[in-house]
Amino acid sequence: MDTVLNQIGNTPLVKLKQASELTGCHIYGKAEYFNPGESVKDRAALFIVQDALKRKLISKGGTIVEGTAGNTGIGLAVVCKEYDLSLKIVIPKTQSIEKKDTLRKMGAELIEVDAVPYSDPKNYIKQSKKIAEDLNKKNSKGVYWANQFDNVANTEAHIQTTAEEIWSQTAGRIDGFTCAVGTGGTLAGVSIGLKNKNKDIKVALSDPMGSSLYSHIKNNKLESSGNSITEGIGTGRITKNFDKALIDDAFQTGDEEALNLVYDLIEKQRIILGGSSGINIAGAIKLAKKMGPGKTIVTILCDHGKRYASKIFNKDFLKSKNLPIPNWL
Ligand code: PMP
Repeated sequence: MDTVLNQIGNTPLVKLKQASELTGCHIYGKAEYFNPGESVKDRAALFIVQDALKRKLISKGGTIVEGTAGNTGIGLAVVCKEYDLSLKIVIPKTQSIEKKDTLRKMGAELIEVDAVPYSDPKNYIKQSKKIAEDLNKKNSKGVYWANQFDNVANTEAHIQTTAEEIWSQTAGRIDGFTCAVGTGGTLAGVSIGLKNKNKDIKVALSDPMGSSLYSHIKNNKLESSGNSITEGIGTGRITKNFDKALIDDAFQTGDEEALNLVYDLIEKQRIILGGSSGINIAGAIKLAKKMGPGKTIVTILCDHGKRYASKIFNKDFLKSKNLPIPNWL
């Protein structure tokens, strides 16, 4: 099939010079903003929709419903167009205006809801499930709730694609992998895929503040402290995808440290990334320092910085959050 869907995956692996020099390791980032929907979530979107089509849970003319911080929605918009499916997105109001505008331009119907914890029945994920159930009664072509958090087609995407690509791009010479968790699909899939190749590869969680997963790994307790302006990562529950992840270690990083790494990468390599990539690079540096010089460590560059122009590249926003402002902004 000659479609844009063929452009999902096979993203470049980029050497992160500063992080590598700092640690004496070879630190690489998987440049996921090269996907057609410009984020790592295109992979999950493709596998989730293809799985639903294969299992005949939906057909041409049907509707996909999903709760998303934005990137999964954009990935689903790319995939739904190819398969003639409509898309309904439930998104917390707090997500960046750039992501919401992109979703609207890509033909998704957007339902903006208050950002409330998962325990609240009005949480965006729970609302998306309810909307899908109600609509399904009325649509003969099928209405499918993508359920990225607990649908393990998400993990499968990263076992079959991301992990395979990292293995071949490093010629099997990889010692460590780390990334943050939203649904957990990336960390679970890459950890399973890589450890299938070599069980000695160390896998670490990179967690932002405000997430409970770091304390879950370190102390077996789902506890959180602080908060983060990063989007798409950090959670307070164990999803079915995260539950599959094979994790050896965990690191936690504050926004200031992550943003300084994002700004530094723009200055040194002209690579412009979103905040979650900063959390990932910080985790890669911490893993490298722990493992010692000479190791090869890979992380994920989840999406492009332009998706957050009004936030992490906006002086007023940064000032209001007491975050560092680069002198070139
Ligand atoms: N970074 C960003 C910007 C994201 O949107 C997401 C997905 N929510 C992630 C990282 C985390 O990916 P995953 O859902 O595979 O854990």
